[in-house]
Amino acid sequence: MAWRCSGLTNAELVKNMMEAGLIHSERVLAAMTKVDRAHYVRSKNAAYEDSPQYIGHGATISAPHMHAHAVENLLPFLRPGARVLDVGSGSGYLCAVLHHLVSDGANGKVVGIEHIPELAEWSKENLRRDGLGSALDDGRIEIIAGDGRKGYPSASPYNAIHVGAAAPTLPTPLVDQLAKPGRMFIPVGTLAQEILQVDKDSKGNITTESLMDVMYVPLTDRDQQT
Ligand code: SAH
Repeated sequence: MAWRCSGLTNAELVKNMMEAGLIHSERVLAAMTKVDRAHYVRSKNAAYEDSPQYIGHGATISAPHMHAHAVENLLPFLRPGARVLDVGSGSGYLCAVLHHLVSDGANGKVVGIEHIPELAEWSKENLRRDGLGSALDDGRIEIIAGDGRKGYPSASPYNAIHVGAAAPTLPTPLVDQLAKPGRMFIPVGTLAQEILQVDKDSKGNITTESLMDVMYVPLTDRDQQT
């Protein structure tokens, strides 16, 4: 799958993902077209390749097709006005895509939480370069430097939670911070990892479904990450 959708421009990359069936929705197409991946990578000449890229501090920006999968999966919960948490927000790329979906004519909110302070700062610079300075200034996007395993209770409950690093087991605080209803997209596992879709219904009942096998960097302690 990787590299199959690479393009010469951001628009071409996103169009290729639509044609490959990775993006189904016009809303996701529009949001991903608005976010120029070149603002969120270290090596601009590989910005439109459908592959992960090292961003320093032991972290990578995920491949575009994984971001597309995540957003498509969470889409029923990403209506304008929704609240979203992005754990392990790294480059800030996905926070930007999520922002365009939930702030489309409404005051949705996206909280990104990243435990490497240098990456949290860099992601804010990236978001500003991508034209999202006013969303940072008025709090529609908030980037927090902290341990994402604890979530960010003060802005909860969240209609959708995306986790961008693999947790050894499902973190209870994140399940607690899901709205009723709400959905979380989270890689879980150590050597073998899978994406779990965790749904909380309007009564608070939890169901989980395994979506696919994956390979993410671990959701870990700051001093364990190299
Ligand atoms: N979605 C991001 C993914 C970055 S890789 C992107 O595409 O840019 C995963 C990120 O999770 C890394 O930036 C890493 O520093 C962060 N991370 C790992 N453990 C964490 C923790 N306990 N709390 C917060 N962030 C964490």
